[in-house]
Amino acid sequence: MYAIAIHGGAGAMPRAALSAEREQLYRAGLAAALDRGYAVLAGGDSSLDAVAAAVRVLEDDPLFNAGHGAALTRDGAAELDAAIMDGRQLRAGAVASVRHVKNPIDLARRVMEKSRHVLLVGAGAEEFALEEQFTLVPNHYFRTAERLAQLESEQRGERMSELLPTSKGTVGAVALDGAGNLAAATSTGGMTNKRPGRVGDSPIIGAGTYAKNGVCAVSATGHGEYFIRAVAAHHVCAAVQYRGLTLQQAVREMLHEILAGMGGDGGLIAVGQDGQVVMDFSSEGMFRGARDSGGRREIAIY
Ligand code: ASP
Repeated sequence: MYAIAIHGGAGAMPRAALSAEREQLYRAGLAAALDRGYAVLAGGDSSLDAVAAAVRVLEDDPLFNAGHGAALTRDGAAELDAAIMDGRQLRAGAVASVRHVKNPIDLARRVMEKSRHVLLVGAGAEEFALEEQFTLVPNHYFRTAERLAQLESEQRGERMSELLPTSKGTVGAVALDGAGNLAAATSTGGMTNKRPGRVGDSPIIGAGTYAKNGVCAVSATGHGEYFIRAVAAHHVCAAVQYRGLTLQQAVREMLHEILAGMGGDGGLIAVGQDGQVVMDFSSEGMFRGARDSGGRREIAIY
């Protein structure tokens, strides 16, 4: 059994406000990422390769809030966060506040595999990227006209979701491979109009991203400050491992009891050791997809 699930952010606009044409674009973007990740698993490669491949596709797609098309800081720049975790030995790598790395998820993986560290931020992360011969791009590569309009709209005090289906965004993937290994990856531009230097939950291991063999792999999207405070992704795995909750119960408790009780909303995708995928959210919607070797293939928004 192998399985993969992806998300392209929670916080979708009301169904009526998303044109059929635009919805098709989002669905196509999700399908491309899902199928890319699935092909890696079907080819016998690792869940780590699969989640990285899926997230890379979403980073390159301007519709999603990661890489090209990332949400902008209040100064109009993109500052990107990403993390990846290998459930085999609880190895993890992450980067935060990078401004020139085309695919932050690849750098997060390189941090895991080639440095002695877990999390590198800002200039230090980019120095490492240079040493590792990563392609660096000018910051305006990430900025799209839509994200700029979204920033301006938010700065005028308008509701963000009138402009873009996802006010927050973020992309992520979780997977179980044929060898039974779990992995998770998350990448984001963070929240529109954030202060420069603000880091969300996505690159914080245990908050927005977590994977542990034998238990589950989790990737989060939503209002990051709450997910950090709730240590959301790790909490889900701990509830499964130590309290015997099903994955669905653990995800539900986190979103609809713990985070809701704190005033935070968003979504979680998770896959268990048995290949069961859970995708749940407390926002209006969550761009998401799942595919497994049992024949399931699903893309959904609401
Ligand atoms: N969780 C991300 C952050 O707070 C944003 C999102 O998922 O939409 O940076």
